[in-house]
Amino acid sequence: MTTDGSVRRSTGDLNGPLGVLDSATGSPTGVVLSVSDAVVAPAGPAVVAKDPAPRLAVEVTALVKRYPKSPVNAVDGLSFAVRRGEIFGLLGPNGAGKTTTVGVLTTRVLPTSGTARVAGLDVVRDAVAVRARLGVVPQRVNLDRSLTTRNNLVFHAAYHGLSRADRTARADELLDRMGLADKAKVSVDQLSGGQSQRLMIARALMHRPEVLFLDEPSTGLDPQARLFVHDRVRALREEGVTVVLTTHDMDEAAKLSDRVGIVDHGRMLTVDTPGRLVRSLPGSATLEVTVRGSDVPAVVLVAALAELPGVERVEQVGAPDPAAPDGAGGPDGDEPGGGSSGGAGGPGPDGGGARLRVYVAAEPAALVGPVVSVLAARDASVSDLSIGVPSLEDVFIHLTGRDLR
Ligand code: ATP
Repeated sequence: MTTDGSVRRSTGDLNGPLGVLDSATGSPTGVVLSVSDAVVAPAGPAVVAKDPAPRLAVEVTALVKRYPKSPVNAVDGLSFAVRRGEIFGLLGPNGAGKTTTVGVLTTRVLPTSGTARVAGLDVVRDAVAVRARLGVVPQRVNLDRSLTTRNNLVFHAAYHGLSRADRTARADELLDRMGLADKAKVSVDQLSGGQSQRLMIARALMHRPEVLFLDEPSTGLDPQARLFVHDRVRALREEGVTVVLTTHDMDEAAKLSDRVGIVDHGRMLTVDTPGRLVRSLPGSATLEVTVRGSDVPAVVLVAALAELPGVERVEQVGAPDPAAPDGAGGPDGDEPGGGSSGGAGGPGPDGGGARLRVYVAAEPAALVGPVVSVLAARDASVSDLSIGVPSLEDVFIHLTGRDLR
């Protein structure tokens, strides 16, 4: 027992005693996340929710988790909600508290204070009932190596009380959906990383969970397997399954999630749709302009462009790439919203020309005309112009900074 009255259980070695025990009983080994020192909440009575279809699939209110002997809270007053049937991306830098939060939501970690509800049920008081309503796909493969692919599913379903007929039919259906029908009888040792990942998703779905927790679902997958998994996740949403996705892959989060929450230092920084978050990023849409032919120094062009309404700032990012057609600038490896490689006081556009980056507050296309006019009025002809659109990664870096954790 721990000091907070909960039973401590090591989740570090997935092939260790816990894995063997689980395989022997057919209990779900797939519920272990990467929390190395998690606790199992005492199982409360399996209270059935009064509202059979609560509007919110996940409700976290003022959640705090402080691990024993730690001077700081791993989760520090976190609040957010996930609607039924949405794909919610939980993002944050290393150590932000995502795994701990998911640990609480999946009843593996006991909170210090605050509340968390899944499918309308309190994760501490109603832990047994909560576990019946959720599925977990961990990042690390924790399939039962002593069983075949199909029996990994069948044993999991038996643990969750599915009838014999239901579990075999469900196993075959899910093997088919996950593209694993031809692997049904092989040992899981013979599965590739991508096949194992798909099998873990199938296993988590065997007992028809209302909420699925997916931890880094695409790590180590090839592009085909990644697309396949993404399609399956979207299909789950169509069936009304709520998906909580934890990922460091911003592209994946932006493509899959209806909404994302960005966590840092155990606190929720923002929750919104990827599109709205990107649009709300100040000054990160850009116009990159290559100019030639003017005797006017670049610093003057920069100052003139900065006066335009809707322009946040302007910087010179270098001379045009001489190899590019018509002197157009090549990429300098800097994403929109990032720093620059040149200063506004550099050489003028005559001779070498200049590449200017214009950071705009609103729709960048609307500023193309005014930018070109300002430059033309100073005899600088535009030889290349491109619009840079910010990404969820820019939002992430803007909110959480560039410091390594
Ligand atoms: P990552 O992206 O690296 O997986 P994360 O956002 O999932 O990180 P957590 O694993 O929840 O973050 O960790 C949050 C904080 O809690 C970190 O400072 C971590 O060191 C600490 N922590 C996590 N597990 C334990 C534990 N069992 N005992 C003590 N501290 C822990």
